[in-house]
Amino acid sequence: MNSALIINFAYILSALGFIIGLKMLGSPATARKGNGLSALAMLLAIAVTLLDKEIITFSWIVGAMVLGTVIGVLAARLVAMTSMPEMVALFNGFGGAASLLVGWAALYSGAATTFVAITIVLSILIGGVTLSGSFIAWGKLAEKLPGRAITFTGQAIVNGLIVITLLANALWFVQSPTVDSVHLYAVIGVALLFGIMLVIPIGGADMPVVISLLNSYSGLAACAAGFVLNNNLLIVSGALVGASGIILTNIMCKAMNRSLANVLFSGFKAVKKSTTVVEGEIKPINCDDAYLILEAAANVVFVPGYGMAVSQAQHVVRELADHLESNGCQVRYAIHPVAGRMPGHMNVLLAEASVPYDQLLEMDAINPQMGAVDVAIVIGANDTVNPAATEDEGSPIYGMPVIKVSDARTVFVLKRGMNAGYSGVENPLFYKENVRMLFGDAKASIQAIAGEFAA
Ligand code: NDP
Repeated sequence: MNSALIINFAYILSALGFIIGLKMLGSPATARKGNGLSALAMLLAIAVTLLDKEIITFSWIVGAMVLGTVIGVLAARLVAMTSMPEMVALFNGFGGAASLLVGWAALYSGAATTFVAITIVLSILIGGVTLSGSFIAWGKLAEKLPGRAITFTGQAIVNGLIVITLLANALWFVQSPTVDSVHLYAVIGVALLFGIMLVIPIGGADMPVVISLLNSYSGLAACAAGFVLNNNLLIVSGALVGASGIILTNIMCKAMNRSLANVLFSGFKAVKKSTTVVEGEIKPINCDDAYLILEAAANVVFVPGYGMAVSQAQHVVRELADHLESNGCQVRYAIHPVAGRMPGHMNVLLAEASVPYDQLLEMDAINPQMGAVDVAIVIGANDTVNPAATEDEGSPIYGMPVIKVSDARTVFVLKRGMNAGYSGVENPLFYKENVRMLFGDAKASIQAIAGEFAA
């Protein structure tokens, strides 16, 4: 068998590994294995590519693998779960940087045909936009930059001019694709500027959509780099990342009831000014009374949000759920698609606490059943349970589907104080007749209630 055949066979195996791995990521039950399978497929792809191109020796491959593994393990262990979106933003940025560099470097390997020149400029352009856009997104999420949307008059015109300059320089470059072309450097510079301009008008609760969109861009950039290098596997894997990123972006836009164009160009909160007027009063409850109500409940739904991640309450939540179940109570968990700070955030935390997957219900599945629930326990969720999203047309989050906890007979809201959630909007839920506020750190409160069951 000739070596080209073996290499292409290995690439097909890798591509299959990616596709099956991605599919397995779709369910918490198989996600861990899916991740492992994709990593193995990537290892195979890298090893085969490096050997094929005879780029480096085995000692370099092993050395780089060890270094990469150490960095990966440290990043996974040291980066807090709540900072994952920042890390993903950085990863996207590095992906973009790699594609930009690949496109640029390809110019040094001799004269490029028009087709190759087009792929080179696409790789540089999309890579550049992804690189600077991702770093701005990282800065916003890590609060190194203002998290709000930055908009100014004439923004659309400025952006239009940037796009025209970018495309014109890209076209000029393709006519004469050399490494000393001034248009090459113009494309790099303007693409970096465009990435910044694309992300600054986005802020607040719209950031998750941007992260997933940048993820998609990093895939497209890699796909273009695949054409530059004439590497089938890079084309396939880039296309997979590009497509899955855009699908996720679409799911998240739907979860927030926004169109992508609205997220990208309107500026969060610039859309509408909150006019939510809250009525009623706050009714606090303590852990002893909460315990008495839970002891009598036949049906409880936990609704976790970002605060559960902050307080790392997932293990004690599981403990309380075990007590409730031993007491004959049915326990379920309602998961909102954008609860927490990254897609699947709540699923990951609950899986870590070994919560059975069949107890996790998505928003659309639990909402119609909420009326029959005795107690809904909101653990550090706020925006994702905000009834203003369905009741108040003036609210900036109006139209975003939310978990309808107030349909339950009784609602406990566990949070430390009256702070707003990520979107910064007021939550009328806390003032509703059937809602009791259990103030304090979520983990401490749940621990106290679980303690009473154990006593
Ligand atoms: P929110 O951000 O709306 O609210 C979290 C609440 O948790 C806060 O009001 C806070 O109130 C409370 N809290 C914080 N720490 C603790 C603690 N130790 N114990 C108890 N409560 C605590 O959370 P949701 O999950 O409901 O909504 C997610 C929001 O984040 C949405 O707006 C979404 O768009 C956005 N987002 C989502 C991403 C994703 O991919 N999932 C990524 C980025 C943003 P207090 O301070 O009073 O305790």
